[in-house]
Amino acid sequence: MRALLKRERPIAMERKRFGLGDIVEMKKPHPCGTNEWEVIRMGMDIRIKCRGCGHSVLMPRLKFERKLKRVLVSQNTPDVT
Ligand SMILES: [Zn+2]
Repeated sequence: MRALLKRERPIAMERKRFGLGDIVEMKKPHPCGTNEWEVIRMGMDIRIKCRGCGHSVLMPRLKFERKLKRVLVSQNTPDVT
């Protein structure tokens, strides 16, 4: 009997993938105490919006990837770069 559920896909194993509309967790939470960010703009720069207070931050993609801890909710949009 195999009752083990494999619901969680190993996203972290295959390099961090993120796309528009994804909810991500950063290494450092926002000062408001929330650590859930929504990706609202993709490109050379990434814009993320804090889900707690609505504050948005624009940062270079590289910096974003370095600060990204994990993807909480993936919208499965293909990464177009
Ligand atoms: Zn905030």
